[in-house]
Amino acid sequence: MIYFNIPPYVGTELDYVKQAIDAHKICGDGQFTKRCNQWFEERFGAQKVLLTTSGTTALDMAALMCDLKPGDEVILPSFTFSSTATAFVLAGATLVFVDVRPDTMNIDETKIEAAITEKTRVIVPVHYAGVACEMDTIMAIAKKHGLKVVEDAAQGVMSTYKGRPLGTIGDFGCYSFHETKNYSMGEGGALVINDPAYNERAEILREKGTNRAKFFRGQVDKYTWVDFGDSYLPSDMNAAYLWAQLEKADEINNDRLATWNAYHEAFAPLEKAGKVTLPTIPADCVHNAHMFYLKCKDLEERTALIRFLKEKGVMAVFHYVPLHSAPAGLKFGRFDGVDQYTTAESDRLVRLPMYYGISAADVAQICEAVKAFFEV
Ligand SMILES: *Cc1c(COP(=O)(O)O)cnc(C)c1O
Repeated sequence: MIYFNIPPYVGTELDYVKQAIDAHKICGDGQFTKRCNQWFEERFGAQKVLLTTSGTTALDMAALMCDLKPGDEVILPSFTFSSTATAFVLAGATLVFVDVRPDTMNIDETKIEAAITEKTRVIVPVHYAGVACEMDTIMAIAKKHGLKVVEDAAQGVMSTYKGRPLGTIGDFGCYSFHETKNYSMGEGGALVINDPAYNERAEILREKGTNRAKFFRGQVDKYTWVDFGDSYLPSDMNAAYLWAQLEKADEINNDRLATWNAYHEAFAPLEKAGKVTLPTIPADCVHNAHMFYLKCKDLEERTALIRFLKEKGVMAVFHYVPLHSAPAGLKFGRFDGVDQYTTAESDRLVRLPMYYGISAADVAQICEAVKAFFEV
């Protein structure tokens, strides 16, 4: 059986977890958390990065810092994970879903402006599969209408748009280190803050509403409860697991890209023959091979392909039931304009196994199985 995903493991994780234990520091903001935060700040030129307990809670923090009031509207794609939406629902907003582009499955930047009302406060681009949204256009729209931009870069760690790391372009960026992502700590994430004016609010929000971070820097002589907050600090044991992979970030990235390229090359003849559609990487984007997907003719063919692959020992999966058609999506939001691509394209999409260390032999076997399905 070829698994769909195996969580990344480079071999030094246990040693680092033990170091955290030996240092008698397993709660949040220990040495490994600090090293991870700093690694992202330096590598991505980010003003401030804070590890969180998940990509979802990084989004929760970003949404809370947008200071939303009931009735305020947030624009996002319907083709995304529930986390993108639920963070803004918790923060009190109404969701306005916008269609995606069929080539990247990212929010269609040309359809955003029509969805803006006087209640709109935030745009949330989701960089699907680690391929950047059209950020110049999105940032220009946000500027023109006085809106905040929260990048859901859960899948976009190590990807760039016009040379800029994803997550560092909008007001806030959110990463995920779930076991299905390129770099993992089991459950975890990070918030990127691009305007230093939000640093203090973020620290308070993350530390149960206290100014504890300021206290540890010696800026106040005792710490106290100053605002509402929550606990978004991951254990330093989890951060130790992540640190092992950050040290090998390029190796992991290159390994995944090699797999992605092997798939792309193998299926080029199928695309040429008009049997499948392959993902597009726009010229301005450098991606991180977060996933490899292809699109079948329709839902029926996709269901048959997934079943066929399973019989051949290959686990493939589909991706997202569009949020606007889900029970909570109907309750908390509306779709703006026509659903030209969201439902139709998501029905056709199938994701193939993709993880750090998948063998070339397994990739070849998967390619053969897919080709066998389409050639009969
Ligand atoms: C994985 C993911 C999330 C959530 O991350 P968690 O760490 O699992 O909470 C949010 N948005 C997108 C697009 C994701 O892929």
